[in-house]
Parts: sequence; C-alpha cells; structure tokens
Amino acid sequence: MAAYARPAPIGLSAAQLRNRMIRSARRIIVEHWPRVDRCLVCGSGWPCTATGYAYEFLGSVGQGDWVPPQPEGSRR
Ligand SMILES: [Zn+2]
Repeated sequence: MAAYARPAPIGLSAAQLRNRMIRSARRIIVEHWPRVDRCLVCGSGWPCTATGYAYEFLGSVGQGDWVPPQPEGSRR
C-alpha cells in the first residue's frame, strides 16, 4: 500500500519491519491452526493465546481476516 510509504532512515524500513512481523504472526497462526475445539499446541480452545496475539497484530495492520492457505486434500 503506497499510503504507508514514508522516508526510511537506515536499516529496515517501517514497511520491511512490518512485513517481518506479519510473517511471524502468520507462522504462529499456521502452527496453531487446526481450528478445532482445542489448540493442539497450547491445549486451550481456539483462538488460543498465541493465535489471539497474532490476530491482534494482523488486525492492527488490516489483515485480521487472514487465514492460512489450505491445500485441498494435503491433510489426511
Ligand atoms: Zn495454540
């Protein structure tokens, strides 16, 4: 989104930093994904704490409705 463009001093730009955090938030969601009654990683109901935080961040960057891509038939 060009709306976020702003002068970046040195090192990571705000956009790069944001992308990096988005990627890790997505990875957390994927790892805790099986959206069943219970998170297999945390053992608590969905959304578990980790997923909750990840979605809180994604929501703050306007991606609160992101879901992991689910290849058909790749899971048993
Ligand atoms: Zn979990």
